[in-house]
Amino acid sequence: MFQYLTIPVTAFDQNCSLVWCDQTLQAAVIDPGGDLDELLGEVKRLGLKLEQIWLTHAHIDHAGGTGELAQRLGLPIIGPHEGDQFWIDGLPAQSKMFGFPPALLFKPTRWLHDGDTVKIGECTLQVRHCPGHTPGHVVFYSPEAKRAFVGDVLFAGSIGRTDFPQGDHATLIASIRNRLWPMGDDTVFIPGHGPESTFGRERKTNPYVADGV
Ligand SMILES: [Zn+2]
Ligand SMILES: [Zn+2]
Repeated sequence: MFQYLTIPVTAFDQNCSLVWCDQTLQAAVIDPGGDLDELLGEVKRLGLKLEQIWLTHAHIDHAGGTGELAQRLGLPIIGPHEGDQFWIDGLPAQSKMFGFPPALLFKPTRWLHDGDTVKIGECTLQVRHCPGHTPGHVVFYSPEAKRAFVGDVLFAGSIGRTDFPQGDHATLIASIRNRLWPMGDDTVFIPGHGPESTFGRERKTNPYVADGV
């Protein structure tokens, strides 16, 4: 069965998640933005075998620790979509701008596309391409666990910023309505920042994307 633990990292309290298969204890980390020693401490405490890095998008608070972690443990980097290449290229500039430790550059082992799947142990998650916050943003969805890791696409009561280069508000709203809502009202989502919620609750109460808004 699919399990996960969310650990806020970096000065931006970014919700990095460890995800694993409890049959095999094989694990992936979604969005290792930083605080690698804390993350690896949790991996050890839980007795997991960390084998993959999955990225939703390449903003510094989500991807800043990726290069170092991949190098330290020899891990493959899965995602995001290649639309975020310019954000990866810009990681050193992002580190400086936001006062993060210098980020090592990296090259994803595998770019992701809408409809792809990723696998850890016996658990398979679906990939949806959800551009708008960044052009290469992807989301990881476990139908079995009814959980979606949505990065900065959607938050409890809010949505991702679209004022960055190649951000687009209408594209983001379409991503949410066309690619997240079909996962079902009872699906719990883990946003990149802040508390979890369900798609059903956001469809009722989110001022940006509620039905009828
Ligand atoms: Zn972001
Ligand atoms: Zn973020």
